[in-house]
Amino acid sequence: MDKFDVLSRYFGYTAFRKGQEEVVDCLLSGGDSLAIMPTGAGKSVCYQVPAIMLSGITIVISPLISLMKDQVNALVQQGIKAAYINRSLTDSQYDRVLKNAAFGAYKIIYVAPERLDSSDFTNLCRKIKISMVAVDEAHCVSQWGQDFRPSYLNVNKFISKLSKRPIIGAFTATATDEVKNDIINILKLNNPKVVTTGFDRPNLFFSVLRPEKKDSKLISLLKGRSDKSGIIYCATRKKVETLCDFLIEKGFSATRYHAGLSNEERIKNQDDFVYDRKTVMVATNAFGMGIDKSNVSYVIHYNMPKNLESYYQESGRAGRDGQEADCILLYGASDVQTCRYFIESAEPNPQLTPEQNEAFKQREEERLKHMIFYCRTSDCLRGYMLKYFGDEAEENCGKCSNCLTKFETVDVTIQAQKILSCIIRTGQKFGAAVISDVLRGKKNEKIKYYELDKQSTFGIMRDAEQTEIRHIIEKLEEQGYIIFVGAGKPIIKVTEMSYPVLKGKAKVKIKKTIKIKSKKKTAEQAADSPLFNILKQIRSEIASKKGVPAFLIFSDASLADMCKKLPVTPEEFLSVNGVGENKLNQYGDRFISAISEYAAKNDVIPDNQNSNKLNKSELGSAYEPWIEKETEKLRFEYELGMSIGKIAKNHGRTRGAIRSRLKKEGLIEE
Ligand code: ADP
Ligand code: ZN
Repeated sequence: MDKFDVLSRYFGYTAFRKGQEEVVDCLLSGGDSLAIMPTGAGKSVCYQVPAIMLSGITIVISPLISLMKDQVNALVQQGIKAAYINRSLTDSQYDRVLKNAAFGAYKIIYVAPERLDSSDFTNLCRKIKISMVAVDEAHCVSQWGQDFRPSYLNVNKFISKLSKRPIIGAFTATATDEVKNDIINILKLNNPKVVTTGFDRPNLFFSVLRPEKKDSKLISLLKGRSDKSGIIYCATRKKVETLCDFLIEKGFSATRYHAGLSNEERIKNQDDFVYDRKTVMVATNAFGMGIDKSNVSYVIHYNMPKNLESYYQESGRAGRDGQEADCILLYGASDVQTCRYFIESAEPNPQLTPEQNEAFKQREEERLKHMIFYCRTSDCLRGYMLKYFGDEAEENCGKCSNCLTKFETVDVTIQAQKILSCIIRTGQKFGAAVISDVLRGKKNEKIKYYELDKQSTFGIMRDAEQTEIRHIIEKLEEQGYIIFVGAGKPIIKVTEMSYPVLKGKAKVKIKKTIKIKSKKKTAEQAADSPLFNILKQIRSEIASKKGVPAFLIFSDASLADMCKKLPVTPEEFLSVNGVGENKLNQYGDRFISAISEYAAKNDVIPDNQNSNKLNKSELGSAYEPWIEKETEKLRFEYELGMSIGKIAKNHGRTRGAIRSRLKKEGLIEE
């Protein structure tokens, strides 16, 4: 069996995705590889295909128990012999897995890094043939990353104890140079082939909104998505709790997750979400790593995260199944203060020197700045993010809120001069709120106390809205005329760039929104089809009988493909994205009979031209090209005396469709 056979037979995919084949080839030829691919790109296939083809066992090191269980479940569903070892197993289960492994019962064993220390396990591994070690979430070896796990430092020691050095594959979605070098050095990869696919996730739609009231905006966003699964990230535990309560009160099927909850509650809530018993997960950033739920259709950030790395990782949990998904960030100015506070008050890392800690903090500040600019930019959001990660990007992606918004450039030099001079005259020791109050002539306590009402700039922008002044202040920062200094409530200082503006020698221009076009998703979602719901129902019956999450039976993408292709034979069923032989054997009959029944009842034909599915009432003009191409053949076959079933098969159509065609041609009676 070659790699393509394995891919189609076990995984049901017709082709490798970008980067996958290169990694597979490298590992199969005995070389080490480091694959840097965004979430959802399909890293698992890169080591699972070689694992099946190599002669011995592959050990997969994976950091989170929940992820392991799901991955192993998925493999078993696909007919691949796999097991996992972590502390969720009882002693007797553990012994059984070790015994089975010694007999060669598995091709793939997932282990938690903590296990690499245990002597039972290393003894076993010395006895059996280990062809490959795949290190998932490999960035966990790096102290520079967000998710450093000291136990990852044991990986190399473990490998050196094996009787023969296996092939090593490392996989991550994080790609800063420091992390990349750490992975190569700490795991001692041998001249590895580094495969980077780029960061773009074409199926994600990015938007940044600046609602007056986040709660009501959120409700309106959720209302249009009640049948979809989604995650709402909040900055604090407290916000998670109040927001989750609020959503439940409003009738949404919400649950919550943060590190302050008991272990039981966390597991229960997570399962409710993964198993589709609850559709909305309200969580802090503690939720997500290791949650392998592929049908998350939106990720909303109620608060701005502290850097783009986190944002990319968290928002990237949407659309892992390749379906269209939304990443929405609700930005508010106070988010900036919360982030600055988190950076300032973070405990120093005892493993780093004070200088290193200080450098780390400064880098965090720098990263925050990029996050803020992402929220405020009027350029393409996808482009901003891709460039930040070192990718090339087109100017206009056409698939983010900025690309769908029109902007006009306006000259705000006069306003900028007023703001800058107010900052200077008040001594460069106040924040944006005070400056805007002075400019608007507000006589509040603070202003009276500091006697700011006696300043010459007091009230010189009386007619301006507070939001307008704020907006210009933000743009002045973005363009480098001012900087914010300090944490909590930072003060504004002017930079050298502002002097030419004050002297009238330079102009300040900003982009202003004209109007937002309504968003239209590019791909029609099969999810609107009644058949999709029928298939979903069957899937959920099977899943609950087996006690596994629904997406392990079939992903939404597979169901959508069924709605498109309407497979009624086993061969046709195999052509569905994500259907391999094992799934065909296990579930083929049930799905095929439901599809045949639906197709016959509604007289639908498969969508071969990638257009929307057609049914009787819609045949009309879409019917014509079909006739042109095929009528002659169809007539010929019918006149030869071929059965309708046979003709249907020849044309890849349902019988109903052929019958209605023949009727239309006047060959058979109504
Ligand atoms: P990652 O680990 O990179 O986040 P996964 O390995 O979980 O991504 O894969 C993401 C999704 O893409 C899964 O639903 C998987 O089944 C699907 N997938 C992976 N490779 C392919 C492929 N070659 N063709 C179609 N779908 C694929
Ligand atoms: Zn864009």
